[in-house]
Amino acid sequence: MKKWECTICGYIHEGDEPPDECPICSADKSAFVEVTEEEQPTNEQTVVEEPVSSAVPAQEPTQFQKIYSFASEQIVKHHLHPIAVHTPNGVLPMAFLFLLITLFFGLPLFETAAFYSFIFVLIVMPFVIFTGYEIWKNRYRGAMTSTFKIKIGASIVTVSLLCVLILWRAVQPDILTVATSGRWIFILLSLILVSAVGIAGHLGGKLVFGNRKN
Ligand SMILES: [Zn+2]
Repeated sequence: MKKWECTICGYIHEGDEPPDECPICSADKSAFVEVTEEEQPTNEQTVVEEPVSSAVPAQEPTQFQKIYSFASEQIVKHHLHPIAVHTPNGVLPMAFLFLLITLFFGLPLFETAAFYSFIFVLIVMPFVIFTGYEIWKNRYRGAMTSTFKIKIGASIVTVSLLCVLILWRAVQPDILTVATSGRWIFILLSLILVSAVGIAGHLGGKLVFGNRKN
């Protein structure tokens, strides 16, 4: 039985042929390389070494580049993206539940809490997206597989819907407490928002835990 390693996420497939699509990161067949038993597969092996050129002297990195690469290293090393995503993935479902409580039980305080929760998540989103971008670029070599396309799309949907919902609630504070026709659209958009972060979180969970055997 041959072993094949996905060069994007490190997933190991056993079989005569590599799979058509990686079940973890959705990279296609061409991303797989055969691993022999002598050399144990590690993610490090897939890293392409920088070509060393003696003719062109390497340029000294600027202060900004040094700070950026240090920050980038820390983000990957300390798993800052999986930590950061707990804000949208934890707060938004709770905020959605609060909207439903207001809708069905007429408790406006919960709606106010949901509104401030949306604002809080929007403030944190640049950090969530930046850490995600750094992990994607450094650990997954910026591979544009469907998994990462969906995650990028979900983050765009999340930020866009947060802006729309916050602005809407700001200009119409009684959107949920008064029986207007628009409140169901407000709830629907909130549901799409929660779904977007749920999908991004599910795919992220697959990337982080998908290689486990159990
Ligand atoms: Zn993969």
